[in-house]
Amino acid sequence: MKTPRITVIGSINMDLVTVAENMPEQGETISGDSFKTLPGGKGANQAVAAARLGAEVHMIGKVGDDPFGDSLLNNFEAQGVETEAVDTESDVSSGLANIIVSDHDNRIIIIAGANGEVTPDYVDGFKEQIEESDYVLIQFEIPKPTIEHILDLCGTLGVPVIINPAPAMQLDDAYWEKAAYITPNDNEAEKLFAYDTDGLPKFHDRLVITNGAKGASFFKGDRMITVPTEKVEVTDTTGAGDTFNGALAVALAEGRPLEEAVAFANRAASLSVQKLGAQSGMPKRGEME
Ligand code: AMP
Repeated sequence: MKTPRITVIGSINMDLVTVAENMPEQGETISGDSFKTLPGGKGANQAVAAARLGAEVHMIGKVGDDPFGDSLLNNFEAQGVETEAVDTESDVSSGLANIIVSDHDNRIIIIAGANGEVTPDYVDGFKEQIEESDYVLIQFEIPKPTIEHILDLCGTLGVPVIINPAPAMQLDDAYWEKAAYITPNDNEAEKLFAYDTDGLPKFHDRLVITNGAKGASFFKGDRMITVPTEKVEVTDTTGAGDTFNGALAVALAEGRPLEEAVAFANRAASLSVQKLGAQSGMPKRGEME
C-alpha cells in the first residue's frame, strides 16, 4: 500500500503546566508542586498522531522566535512530522497554553502567538504540498479568514478536507459544504449542527461525531450508526479527540470505508487515553494490531 500523505494546517503550542494543591486567590502568591512543558496545540497533536500511525505528514503552521519555537520544531522532527512549512515568525511568541492544575480545578489561558500569523497568503506558499496530499486536516485554532481560504483553495485543487471544528466556531453554510468530513465532539455538534434536537443534524451526510467513551457516530442515509469503542482503564483523556482525528485522516487516506476508518480512529484514541499526556500517549502503528 502507498504511504498515505496528510497535510495538517493548524496550531502549534507549548503547554506550560503548573501543578499546585490549590488555586491562588486574587492577589495571592502560593508555592506550587511541579512544572513541566509539553508540546501541544490541536494542529500539532493531530499531525503527531497521524505520523505515529505511519502517514507522511506535512505540517503547515508557525512558531515564535523563542526557545519554545525551537523545542516545538525539534519535537516534530523526533516524531517524524515534516516541517518545511513551519516558519519561525519574529517579534511574536510561540503559541502557548498556560495551564494551572489544582486538586479541584484547572484554569487555562491560551496565547495564539505565532498561530495568529498563519494567514491566507502564508498558506498559498505551500500549494504544492497541499495538492499532493490525500487529505488536508484543519482545526479552529488559526484565524477564521485562513480557514475559509483553505476550504476555497482545497476545493479548487480537488483535495478533500477534514474539519475538526474545535474550539467551536460557526462558519457560513457554503464553507461547511466544502468539507469532506466534519468531526465535532458531542458539545460542538450540539452548538454548531443542532445535534441535540429531533431530526437530522445539519450536514449529517459528512458528520463524524465523537461520543467520548461511547465511541463515535456517523450517518448512513438518515440512520445514525454508532461505532462503539473498547472499554479501557482511563488515565488521561487529554488529546483523545486529536488522536481520533489524526487516525481518521490516516485510515481515510488509506482508502478505507468510513465505518472501518471510524473503528480505527476509536482504537487509536482508546489506546491514547490509557497513557498520560496528549502526544506521549498516542499509539504507533505497531500497537494498533
Ligand atoms: P471525545 O472528544 O471525548 O468525544 O473523544 C474522542 C474519541 O476518543 C472518542 O470518539 C473515543 O474514540 C475516544 N475516547 C474518549 N474517551 C474515551 C474513554 N473514556 N474510553 C475509550 N475511548 C475514549
